[in-house]
Amino acid sequence: MIEEFDDLHPETVALRAGTRPTPYGEHSDALFLTSSFLVDDAEDAALKFSGQAPGYTYSRFGNPTVTAFEERLAALDGAERAQGTASGMAAILAVCLSHLKAGDHILASSGLFGATIQLFNAYLTRFGVEVSYVSPTDPSAWRAAVRPNTRLFFVETPSNPLTDIADLASLAAIAHEHGAMLVVDNSFCTPALQRPLAFGADLVVYSATKYLDGQGRVLGGAVCGSKVLVDPVYLFLRTAGPSLAPFNAWVLLKGLETLPLRMKAHSENALKLAQWLEVQPGVEKVFYPGLASHPQFELAQRQQSAGGGVVSFEVKGGREAAWKVIDSVQLISRTSNLGDVRSTITHPATTTHGRLTPEARAAAGINEGLIRVAVGLEHIDDLVKDLARGLP
Ligand SMILES: *Cc1c(COP(=O)(O)O)cnc(C)c1O
Repeated sequence: MIEEFDDLHPETVALRAGTRPTPYGEHSDALFLTSSFLVDDAEDAALKFSGQAPGYTYSRFGNPTVTAFEERLAALDGAERAQGTASGMAAILAVCLSHLKAGDHILASSGLFGATIQLFNAYLTRFGVEVSYVSPTDPSAWRAAVRPNTRLFFVETPSNPLTDIADLASLAAIAHEHGAMLVVDNSFCTPALQRPLAFGADLVVYSATKYLDGQGRVLGGAVCGSKVLVDPVYLFLRTAGPSLAPFNAWVLLKGLETLPLRMKAHSENALKLAQWLEVQPGVEKVFYPGLASHPQFELAQRQQSAGGGVVSFEVKGGREAAWKVIDSVQLISRTSNLGDVRSTITHPATTTHGRLTPEARAAAGINEGLIRVAVGLEHIDDLVKDLARGLP
């Protein structure tokens, strides 16, 4: 973490880290919409291009607005360095292509974000990278599945949509015993609720598109970790191109300012909604890490400062009943996106997980009656009233 922010609280860091006024003395962060930068003379150009002198040359390599976002996020995550990327998927791709080679093996948790599975299975395997999947909740399964060529553990916690919690400290220990690194997709919790590096993770990736922006405006991503591990990611990005756009970085920089407050409010609303759902006669089961009934409640309490914004629940009556709930809402947005101040609702079995075979879906525990709500910041009473409309 940046030294001077060590003693400050996240709410303060979110507002103050990464800010570097220009000679104009602007109070809000400047937006540098420029593709390239001037140099003083030929020698200055040579020094900057070779990396011997600090400074900017071209925005694919770096841009002051992007740097401001990176420094603020690094400070929040307790990371030595953060690297912005064009999207969450660009962050995951950049980690894999900068740290893996043909013949290496990824050990990943089952139930990852769909595009991540697609990237691993359909693309990385073409270049000779092996991939296998294990349950996020069973560290012994990870130990058993390690291969001599395992280089990378990849996990999301809580998982989507069933909110399984992975034990980060145990997975980090197992990975390190075998010379592998632990990469955590922390898009759901964000550094406001969970800081995976503190539990031994080596790299953290974000879809900044979700809660870091929090208002559904831009695509973006990031990779956080030690300088030694993030530098190769930077070199890949500046060469391959999926760099974070300055405008998006500027929007994300503003998003970070309210992140600790928003995540707290998302979690409070989500907990209240989950508690209400738990006592509804038409609801079979509720999945939320902040509920004492969650199978890994204690682990979640240790790892996360709150449960986050995503609540899933199963209604009685299968697909028909679930679709009725979704079709009856008048306020909550029908969309599969999440991480927005506006609440969203989706039916995982026929949307985000619709391409899985029925057997794979059943194995993943995604039933036809399952509904996922990404709880936003509307008043809880309005959300409850809206969901009650179609409940069996
Ligand atoms: C959305 C998401 C991604 C992909 O991020 P994009 O910004 O859409 O590329 C990766 N992981 C998780 C957990 C996500 O929710």
